[in-house]
Amino acid sequence: MPEQTTVAFLGLGHMGGPMAVNLVRAGYTVAGFDVVPAALDAAQTHGVPTVASPLDAIAGADVVLTMFPSGQHVLDAYRGADGQPGLLAEAKPGTMFLDCSTINVDEAREASALAIAAGHRAVDAPVSGGVVGAEAGTLTFMVGGETEDFEAVRPLLEVMGKRVVHCGGHGGGQAAKICNNLILGVSMIAVSEAFVLGEKLGLTHQALFDVASNASGQCWALTTNCPVPGPVPTSPANRDYQPGFAGALMAKDLRLALNALESTGVAARLGPLASEIYDTFAAEGGAGRDFSGIITDIRDKSQH
Ligand code: NAD
Repeated sequence: MPEQTTVAFLGLGHMGGPMAVNLVRAGYTVAGFDVVPAALDAAQTHGVPTVASPLDAIAGADVVLTMFPSGQHVLDAYRGADGQPGLLAEAKPGTMFLDCSTINVDEAREASALAIAAGHRAVDAPVSGGVVGAEAGTLTFMVGGETEDFEAVRPLLEVMGKRVVHCGGHGGGQAAKICNNLILGVSMIAVSEAFVLGEKLGLTHQALFDVASNASGQCWALTTNCPVPGPVPTSPANRDYQPGFAGALMAKDLRLALNALESTGVAARLGPLASEIYDTFAAEGGAGRDFSGIITDIRDKSQH
């Protein structure tokens, strides 16, 4: 997909804004749009050409890239809602619909099927790496779709990310994303419970870290995002749990994982529990804190 490709970039929020900036810097022709005027203004200030409506954005676009909060936003935009025309009906035939939002696997498959039925191409490509990765162009993209469509969007994704992985057919990118974050949510709760138990049993944080980080308890939640201050100086615990990866986003991703666990009938017990734990954490003040702040909840709710 050459740099003269024209990209309609819809959704210029925390992630979409800096991703669009990187496409512009790489020489892509970008027409940016967001329903929130402040997001539009911010993107414009950072050099992203913006337009006044989604239809202006998709006029002549080769790629329609969406970076929205949820699957409902994506499906509404594709199909049209609230009297607004749908993007699928208005885009030129053969347009590549590239959705980078994190949404349900079933919604991603539906969105792709709708796009293909309307004569277009479709790929789901959710990301990990957060706002820092979006700004630095170091995101990881997990891509679902046909091989030739993956190869078509790969150069564009490589501008915004450092790793681009083809995970399979439609919905495969979303599947990989929620499976990874299911591991992450459960492992962060386990690491946090272990540290609070260690406190009760008289272990120092450093002693437990030195053992577990070199033993079979080793994992990213421990060695990179350690939920106690000290052992890993760069972890959010050292800055009063400023995210990082916010509790609200972990709660969202675990709800998506829960939906997939239910629809596939997996006999999972920890996933649903982790989803419930992070929903409570987000509702009780943790939404804007790093998800490793779950340890303070566990400590506060412990007896003695
Ligand atoms: P955000 O809420 O900051 O941005 C989403 C933007 O989409 C908003 O500005 C909103 O106004 C806009 N929008 C909604 N409907 C629209 C429409 N029909 N047309 C145009 N614009 C529309 O969210 P974000 O943090 O940028 O996250 C975007 C997606 O990326 C989410 O699905 C999120 O789960 C995922 N994600 C976020 C992070 C993160 O760290 N923020 C990390 C990985 C993945």
